Amino acid sequence: MIQSISGTTTVVGVLGFPVAHSLSPVMHNAAFAALGLDWVYVPFPVAPDRVTAAVSGLSGLGIRGVNVTIPHKQAVLPLLDRLTPEAEQISSVNTIAVTEAGLLGHSTDGTGFLRALTERGFCVAGAQVVVLGAGGAARAVVGALASSLATSVTLVARTPERGEALAALALRVSQGRTHARVVPFDDEARYAVAQAQLLVNTTPVGMAPYAVDDMPIPPSWLHRDLLVYDLVYTPRETALLHAAAGIGCRTIDGVAMLVYQGAEAFSLWTGAVAPITIMESAVTDFLRQASSSIR
Ligand code: NAP
Repeated sequence: MIQSISGTTTVVGVLGFPVAHSLSPVMHNAAFAALGLDWVYVPFPVAPDRVTAAVSGLSGLGIRGVNVTIPHKQAVLPLLDRLTPEAEQISSVNTIAVTEAGLLGHSTDGTGFLRALTERGFCVAGAQVVVLGAGGAARAVVGALASSLATSVTLVARTPERGEALAALALRVSQGRTHARVVPFDDEARYAVAQAQLLVNTTPVGMAPYAVDDMPIPPSWLHRDLLVYDLVYTPRETALLHAAAGIGCRTIDGVAMLVYQGAEAFSLWTGAVAPITIMESAVTDFLRQASSSIR
């Protein structure tokens, strides 16, 4: 796919640990090829004790920008010159742009998450939402829901302290206008799902190569007025999404958020409109080949 790399090729990439599983190189390199850009996207495995060295070397190496993934999204914060308001609000950075004014930290996860909802005509303002899980991805999701003024966000968390931290984030971002609470995976959660219009799974339950038939909640909790959004994208149709579609729910899979957060990073670095369809096809083709080679 990459034609050739020369002294004029612009380099971007992703810092993570591990990073070999990342689909971002496939997605971005397909986009560069489609637009005829002399750019390349490289995965950089960076151990936690090497993050400072890696980030401080970006500018000197002429690297134009990087995505940041697990486990570095919070560790890079003190290493940057400026943060966008979104990144500052949720204390998480997934994209660094190397600019003349220094290193600028963005979070495109939340806008990527919201764009898939907007494209399906779902209005977050005024909605009652249930979020399953309270880890790193949930931070961006909850920040986005609160900034869009969801009426309520019920965090279903097995570790209450992590849920409470995100409930506090929702209150802060929405300036008290989004009601946020934490419940365990029990009847309280079941009741919240019954009242909700949007259910978001941010747990890894159902993700390959683990038990792909597992669901984070019993299918009997679902109702057909729910929009069910699963951040897991391997497999693309998780057991949760399969069950939801089976009873007539609308669904959104994790590829949508992956592609939209990547598209925004692509535009921040290149200044070009991202070729969304190409990026989505690259990810989908890769996932299809990967799943057929496992079988
Ligand atoms: P993380 O930081 O490890 O958080 C996972 C959360 O799920 C934690 O709150 C954890 O609970 C909870 N959890 C894990 N197993 C559970 C179980 N069996 N039952 C109930 N809760 C459980 O992981 P992450 O970075 O947020 O990623 C989560 C998932 O989202 C992954 O599958 C990842 O691939 C996906 N993701 C997708 C996108 C996208 O663009 N589509 C972006 C980011 C992440 P504890 O707090 O108790 O550990």
